[in-house]
Amino acid sequence: MRTPWESFKQEALDHLRALVRLDTTNPPGNERRAADYLAAVLNQVGLKPALVEPVSGRTNLIARISGADPAAPPLMLSSHTDVVPVELARWSRAPFGAEIADGCVWGRGTVDMKAKCAMDLVLALAIGRVGVTPSRDLIIAAVADEEAGSQHGARYLVDHAPDLIRAGYVLNESGGFTMHMGGRRFYPVQAAEKGFVTVRMTVRGEPGHGSMPRPDTAIVRMAMLVERLTRAGLRGRTTRLMATTLRELGFETNGAPTFLRPLLANTVAVTMLQAGYKDNVIPGEASAVLDGRILPGESAASFLSELTEIVGPEPALEVIKQGEPVEWPIDTPLFKILATRLEAGDPGAKAIPWMLPGATDSKFYARLGAVCYGFSPVRLLPETPFGSLYHGNDERIPIDGFFWGLRVYCDAVLEFAGLRFDQIFS
Ligand SMILES: [Zn+2]
Repeated sequence: MRTPWESFKQEALDHLRALVRLDTTNPPGNERRAADYLAAVLNQVGLKPALVEPVSGRTNLIARISGADPAAPPLMLSSHTDVVPVELARWSRAPFGAEIADGCVWGRGTVDMKAKCAMDLVLALAIGRVGVTPSRDLIIAAVADEEAGSQHGARYLVDHAPDLIRAGYVLNESGGFTMHMGGRRFYPVQAAEKGFVTVRMTVRGEPGHGSMPRPDTAIVRMAMLVERLTRAGLRGRTTRLMATTLRELGFETNGAPTFLRPLLANTVAVTMLQAGYKDNVIPGEASAVLDGRILPGESAASFLSELTEIVGPEPALEVIKQGEPVEWPIDTPLFKILATRLEAGDPGAKAIPWMLPGATDSKFYARLGAVCYGFSPVRLLPETPFGSLYHGNDERIPIDGFFWGLRVYCDAVLEFAGLRFDQIFS
């Protein structure tokens, strides 16, 4: 049975609100709440999802709609169901209330990323109701623990259940929303992610009495190193993808605005400092945590040698965690479909490839050979503070923009799956 488009939109909105009301704050996560909800809904159309629970309550859901051609690389629609904590006192509406006000659904996870989770769910439902067979396998994944390193989510699945999620292509978060710039509208589609290298830097010095200050203590030397790191420009390079992005935006490499600079160079931010244990003791050790972000083509080793050039050989540098940078090709049929559908949905706007300075689960999916794009479309007005709503207070999504994104999303996925809109919807 085909689904009327108008009731489909309402269904998507209802599921989004229901998902927001399930508190999946990570830590502790409790993603089982969301997985159980999604499983019950998918079961209604006979899609029997697999539930993978590495530890109690941390549940991943994976469903599959089999395609006609087993040789065609599957398309995975992925979302994470956990959300970051809220600072309750700074919210003007209940963070898990999913209230509708000012044309928006309000609540933690509306943007990051239960809206896409709801889109994936209703699209699978609508296909299931008609019972048509796509040209390739469609995998729906709603995974745990993305906001705290993915140990119980995508990373676990890649290591322990790769056959469930092995896909040629993945559509995940971070892309497809309106970026207003210079009176024009752009739709970034994420096709690259910087890597991260988190480093503990430790310096040692002679301890002593606080009444006998010296300029060579561990703390003083650490302060000088922090200053040196902050002033040093790290290695810059324009990747092939970013060259395209800059060209489309109309910028020269050297004239890129400040907010684009982290996408054109390695960066380092000092995020933690530790030294001392008593007010009148000069400590013998000081340490800092450095949050390093590296461009595609770089590695932890190349980043460490770059740091050493800046801070010299003396401080000890220890990598405490790392994730590799990735850049996916954009000359694929899927990228073309995403760009075409975004531009058709908002005439005059331009879709552009994008690099994320942060990290998503796509980093893990890439290890299984998937080409991953950030595509979670939503149309925004210039005044919508969308970027600041990720992990921010008063997270909310405009309902009109969500409906617009739903249509673009369905059009794109159906096209890549060899299905027509009017086969599924009336
Ligand atoms: Zn997210």
